Parts: sequence; structure tokens; C-alpha cells
Amino acid sequence: MLFTKRTHTCGALRASDVGNTVSLNGWLQVRRDLGGMIFIDLRDRYGVTQVVFSPQQNPELHKRAHELRSEYVLSVTGVVSLRPSGMGNAHLPTGEVEVQATALEILNASDVTPFEILDDVDANEDLRLKYRYLDLRRPVLQKNFLLRHRVTQVVHRHFDALGFLEIETPVLMKSTPEGARDYLVPSRVHPGRFYALPQSPQQYKQLLMVAGFDRYVQIVKCFRDEDLRADRQPEFTQIDVEMSFVQRDDIFQVIEGLIASILKEALGADLALPIPRVTYDEALERYGSDKPDTRFGMRFETLNEAVAGSEFKVFADVLSAGGIVTGMNVKGKAEFSRKQLDALTERAKQLGLGGLVWAKAAEGTLQSQAAKFMTPETMLGIRAALHAEDGDLLLIVAHADRRKALHALGTIRLELGRELGLAAAGDHQLLWVVDFPLFQRDEEGQRWVAEHHPFTGPNAGDLHLLDSDPGAVHADCYDLVWNGNEVGSGSIRIHDGDLQQKVFQLMGLGDEEIREKFGFLIDAFRYGAPPHGGVALGLDRIITILAGIHSIRDVIAFPKTNSALSLMDSAPSRVSDAQLTELHILLRGS
Ligand code: ASP
Repeated sequence: MLFTKRTHTCGALRASDVGNTVSLNGWLQVRRDLGGMIFIDLRDRYGVTQVVFSPQQNPELHKRAHELRSEYVLSVTGVVSLRPSGMGNAHLPTGEVEVQATALEILNASDVTPFEILDDVDANEDLRLKYRYLDLRRPVLQKNFLLRHRVTQVVHRHFDALGFLEIETPVLMKSTPEGARDYLVPSRVHPGRFYALPQSPQQYKQLLMVAGFDRYVQIVKCFRDEDLRADRQPEFTQIDVEMSFVQRDDIFQVIEGLIASILKEALGADLALPIPRVTYDEALERYGSDKPDTRFGMRFETLNEAVAGSEFKVFADVLSAGGIVTGMNVKGKAEFSRKQLDALTERAKQLGLGGLVWAKAAEGTLQSQAAKFMTPETMLGIRAALHAEDGDLLLIVAHADRRKALHALGTIRLELGRELGLAAAGDHQLLWVVDFPLFQRDEEGQRWVAEHHPFTGPNAGDLHLLDSDPGAVHADCYDLVWNGNEVGSGSIRIHDGDLQQKVFQLMGLGDEEIREKFGFLIDAFRYGAPPHGGVALGLDRIITILAGIHSIRDVIAFPKTNSALSLMDSAPSRVSDAQLTELHILLRGS
């Protein structure tokens, strides 16, 4: 198709261009007919420029401009002029100028779009996902992809400068349990056999270390068939890293440099290094979470000592059952109303606790619904432990199951932090959480499953506990937490075939099953596997945080819904009998 190609983008023209004849290509954002003139805003991904069709200067063209509708694709030629004084738009980079049209080509018409292409569109998300290509025309979304692009360029540059190799790993792989459910792909050539889509390239990157590549990185799609939430997608992107001959600190250094560069590039912000570290046990005890949001305080203090000997039955029972009494100080919030306090108590009950003890610091002691059960010494002890001053509100929970108490208070802490606006906008707090347990019990409490994944190495100092007390073994693994979001996870790996076999056994896998599922990995470890470790960062989540938005769908060009549907092309869809036959598949029922 012949058409007049643009000389400038729709975001380029400034006062210095006045007098020049230019051509623009773009989409019609709006048309306004005012006082006989027709104004259009022409949009492309670089910006918006106002174009004027004047009945005096070009009656013929002005007449044709009447035909123009939203989202028509146009080529407009004209002369750049200053907008009349007082008519400029200071919000628009091109707002000082407009283009007086001398020629117009309609490159394509558009049906009326199902919603207006506006930043603050009020169409619901399903409709926007169905017409995702229109949704993506909105500048607010385009901005996210520009950011994403810039961040991925930082990633390539950072790792290249450090001698990492980008190596692609297969998308069709062997189904091996790594934690989540696999997406399976049937083999046509081998009836009854399936590939799996990688939950991550974990085993491949370890094998690349065995192969001697030493420093590997890949920006890679991973697939997990899990129940979805706002911050999860069935396919998502990781910055996947593996290194040989390293310890944890070496990996931290590489990743901290990366995050600092990303923050600098994306937001111009300086990140203080090194990123602080807390152990998993401490994170749980201090924040009730393994991904604490450290943009605000309200750290917990364990009160077992402060309330020891208390006659308050709730505390006494919990203490004698070996549980925890823990609390936090909501600074200066003694003003909370009875209604607010009741709501907090109710929330604690919803979270599985018997309730919550509140206490207001006043007159050097505590005012509380439980005051009559506590001695003055106990109340002073609680005040001291929680560093309370008059005017503070103290929230205390107790439960025989430590985790339950801590998690519940952790949830309340986060909710209060949000409600009270404690996290400053634009603040970025990162944290390494280290030394997770190697194993946790599975949902039925029957078997040990890997807390991270089964290739994670136990802490050297805990190896002797592997047989006697597997639950007490800590792992040489770490999560990177950013403003309360887990954005990365990794570990120093097992590189010894026998130890790997043992960990599989502890997870209840039989020798045959181990051989069948992981034989290739264990074999590889018998041929000189170097000590190695790595990490994977969730790119989608990082972009979401940098963009200051909540949904990772807004940083993925073609995302799925929460029920794993692609509303635009209706995937997953039924396939023909012929396709199924070719794949040797007979559907049950449906
Ligand atoms: N493969 C791991 C994951 O996807 C990350 C790692 O250990 O490197 O969570």
C-alpha cells in the first residue's frame, strides 16, 4: 500500500518545529468539531498530537474530516504551528503546537470499539481482555511494556558484563515433580507418552553447570498449572540464573547489583547495598511472614517471658502448651474506637485464633479489656517489651501453635499497615530471607516435601539431623522479598548424587521412582558436578512493583484470566477428533 509515511511520531513535535511541513501516522483518539474547525488528536505509542482542519484554509479537506471516527488509522500531512495563546496544553509534551492539515489519507477505518481507548477506561477487565489489542493501545498499559523492555535490557547488559551466557533450555521436557502441577503435552510419535512444560528450567540449568558453563542466565517462560491469584499466571517469566564454584554471598552480590541497576534505570532510585538479611525463623517471629513488608515497623515481640506466671488463663494455657504470646505496638493509636478494636478481634478469630488482647498504653500502665486479669508487673513487662509509650495501642495474640499465632498477627499487621497508610509511596525495601527449613509437611501432614524444591542443599551444619530430625534441617536457600512480595527464590544446590538420592528418599520416593524421574540428574552428578547454586527472579512481579500497580496481568501482553482462560482467542479450546486420534487420546466423558 502506498501512503505518506511519517516524518515524525505523534509525540515528537515541539515549538522548534513551527513552520515545518510534517507527516504523521497514527490512530484517531478523538474528534472535536468546534466553531467550524475540526480538531483531532492523533495517537501513536509515542504520544498525541493535535491536528486542525480549517474550513477557510482547505474546505475540501475539512469536509472529508467529517468522515473521521475514533480509531481510524490516518496519515496526515500539514504545517506545524503554535497553538493560539491560552490554548496550549501543558500536560501534553506536544501541547504547545498543532498541525494545520494540508493532506489526509485514511489508511484504515475502524468499527466502533467496544470501549473507549482511554487511560481511565471504565470497561470491565473481561471485556478488555477479550479485545486485548485495543486495551493495549491505552497509554497506561503501553507504559508498562516500555518499562518492561527497559528492565530486560538492563538484565542482558548486567549479566553480559559479568560473563554470564544466555542459553536457551527446552520447553518440551520430562515431567518431574518440582512442586506445582505440570502442563502436559501429548506425544504424537510416542503413543501414551507426554512432555511437560517446564515449571522452571531448574534441572537444565544445573546440568549446564555440570557441562561447565559456569555462569548461566535466561529470561524464560515457566509454566505451572496452579490455582491462580491476582499475582499469579499459568505462564510467567523468570530471570533464571545459575553459577558454579560459588557460595550464597556470590549469588547475592550479582543479584543485588542487578536490582540496583534496575531501580536506577526504571525509577532513578538508589538502592542502599547490601540488601539486609533475616533468617526465616526471625522473619516469622518478627513479622509473622516469610515475606515481610519492611517498609514499616510494627515488629513483633515475643511476650512469653513478660507474661510468665500470669494468672490470665488465656496466656497461662498457651504457655503451658509450649505456644507463643506475641504482640505488636501500633504507635500512637490508642485512639482506636471500641468498634475498631472489636473488628480487629473479629479478624483474629477469622484467622483461627480465639481472639486478640488489645491494650492501650496510658498513665504509665495499660488499659485493656484484660487488665483485671493481669498484675501491674505483667502490664509493665508488656509495656517494656513492646517499647510502649502512653498513647500507643498494643495488640497481643496467643496460641499453642506458634505459626498460627504469628501468621494471624502477620496478616493483621499487613492489613493495618495498609489501612493506616504506613508504607510510603515510592519506598522500596528489599530483604533476603535465608535459612528456610529444608522440608515441610505436605497438606495431609503425612510426608516431607521440599520447602523450596528437592534440589536445594541442606545447611552443612544441619546434615547430621537429616536422619534423626528432618524437620529441623535448614536449607541453604533464600528468597528475595521486595515490599512484602516474594520476587525471587534460589539456593545452593545439592551436587552430590548420594545426598540428592537421600533427599528424594526422605520425601518418600522409592528407589525405582527416583531412578525413573531423576535418574538423568543423579547420573550427571556422578561425572564431576561442580558445587553450584542459583536463583530465579519473577520478572512480571518486579515490573508490577516498579510500575506501582497490583495486577501482573497489566505487565503481560496477553495474559490469562484468574481461571486460566485467554478470553481473546478462547484458549483452552476443544480440538477436532482427528487431532485427538493422531495423539492417541480418548477423552473421558465430556
Ligand atoms: N527454579 C526455582 C524456582 O523456579 C528457582 C531456583 O531455585 O533457582 O522457584
